[in-house]
Amino acid sequence: MADARVDLFVIGGGSGGVRAARIAAGYGASVLVAEEYRMGGTCVIRGCVPKKLMVYASHVRHELDEAAGFGWTIPEATFDWATLIANKDKEIARLEAAYTANVEKSGARIVKTRAVFEDAHTLRLGTGERVTAAHVLIATGGAPNHGDAIPGIEHVISSNEVFHLPALPKRIVIQGGGYIALEFACIFAGLGSDVTVVYRGENILRGFDEDVRAHVRGEMEKSGITILTGCVVTRVDKHGDVFTTHLSSGSSIASDRVMFAIGRHPNVKGLGLDNAGVALNPVNGGIAVDAFSRTSVPHIYAVGDVTQRINLTPVAIREGHAFADTVFGGRPTRVDHNDIPTAVFTQPEVGTVGLTEAEARAQYTHVDIYKASFRPLKATLSGSESRVLMKLIVDGRTDRILGCHIVGPEAGELIQVVGIAVKMKATKADFDATVAVHPTAAEELVTLRTPTARHVREAAE
Ligand code: FAD
Ligand code: NDP
Repeated sequence: MADARVDLFVIGGGSGGVRAARIAAGYGASVLVAEEYRMGGTCVIRGCVPKKLMVYASHVRHELDEAAGFGWTIPEATFDWATLIANKDKEIARLEAAYTANVEKSGARIVKTRAVFEDAHTLRLGTGERVTAAHVLIATGGAPNHGDAIPGIEHVISSNEVFHLPALPKRIVIQGGGYIALEFACIFAGLGSDVTVVYRGENILRGFDEDVRAHVRGEMEKSGITILTGCVVTRVDKHGDVFTTHLSSGSSIASDRVMFAIGRHPNVKGLGLDNAGVALNPVNGGIAVDAFSRTSVPHIYAVGDVTQRINLTPVAIREGHAFADTVFGGRPTRVDHNDIPTAVFTQPEVGTVGLTEAEARAQYTHVDIYKASFRPLKATLSGSESRVLMKLIVDGRTDRILGCHIVGPEAGELIQVVGIAVKMKATKADFDATVAVHPTAAEELVTLRTPTARHVREAAE
């Protein structure tokens, strides 16, 4: 490709970049997307999609375990890691091709190389060529953190490597208490690994509702996962194929793999942001943007994980779309980051939208809590000890639903729908007026009649 001039240069062919490129091209802009690894980005290649496929694989174990109570006799099941990984890789390759084709169909062009700023309007490609752009979108995403360099950190894998392990580890130690650590702890436990989670704080899933945190921990422990809290990994030794993980508590654990999932940092290093004059957010190290995703340089925008707002795929997509509408569609569009539903694909899943109880009590003077924890109908025959949690947080003055928290089967699917009601500012009375679907677990959401707690506090002077 000879040196070129475009209306929009997108750095990064992930969730946010791809959406922005397609929409901008649809508005008639000439668009070039640079992707240094694989089209589709983190979500498609080494995030949401392969992760969810592995969750499905792992979940089969629970179905098998629960089959006997329903009359099924199943000969001893065996699991083949290589088959799962090969099938998953095939699907990811198909998706990568589909993402590439969709971008090209929109009229945007792709260059498979790294791009960095030479100055505010000039991008230098890995090939040495230069592109001049009227607008630039930075959509470079993020990458796993490994924290402070402890001895033996070279033996530790991240979520990037976990999708390509040559064999299912019989024993795995996972450090972290957030989305990735817990999702993979449950994936490996379901597939038959012996799993130990190491978390530095008092309880996992910091930032989630306290009842959710306690419930998920209890469920994970019931399924055989060991969760060690209040400690960190201080050193990892390797002897042959076996790793010894040393903890700050003084104990050590032998395993076949050690994984860290202790957060992700924005991909800003080496991008040449100084050459372009793009400022970072001093608090989180992401690219500083306004409500329209505009950076400190008026013709340069940034969306998705690189901005460290809410690091979820649908958010990156929204931000990318809003950017294209704003800059090329003549429709200035802000993304509303309130009440974004989210799921943690642990087993059982978490689905959550809106405020936690603690947040609601800090922000509202009257807060009513409706809560139920119960054994679902299926468990009566399956014998599963797993319990479901449903919790509604209600503004005691206006009756509005401020938050909904679910732990249980298909919580991710449920919270997507509850999220619509919350976004529409539904009240508890609206939930009550909705007739139940029976027999389901979700019917509990419309039959929670009596508050389990009512919090009233005098408004601050
Ligand atoms: P990315 O998708 O990361 O895309 C950035 C792209 O830019 C990458 O392809 C990268 O190679 C490229 N790039 C970087 N620098 C350059 C450069 N200089 N030149 C050219 N190319 C460059 N979110 C959910 O909503 N649900 C989930 O279930 C979920 N599961 C996840 C599981 C895991 C293991 C991980 C790691 C993340 C998960 N996420 C999930 C988060 C989600 O993947 C991200 O929020 C999303 O991918 C962010 O999109 P993005 O466009 O900002 O960046
Ligand atoms: P998270 O921020 O969710 O969790 C990071 C965890 O690591 C926290 O428990 C944190 O503890 C701990 N931690 C941070 N630093 C250290 C350290 N130096 N030493 C020990 N522990 C540490 O990050 P993840 O890596 O799990 O995932 C990144 C993001 O990707 C998520 O926040 C989410 O936005 C997105 N994602 C979304 C998914 C989904 O939608 N289902 C799935 C996977 C990822 P503490 O809480 O004490 O800070």
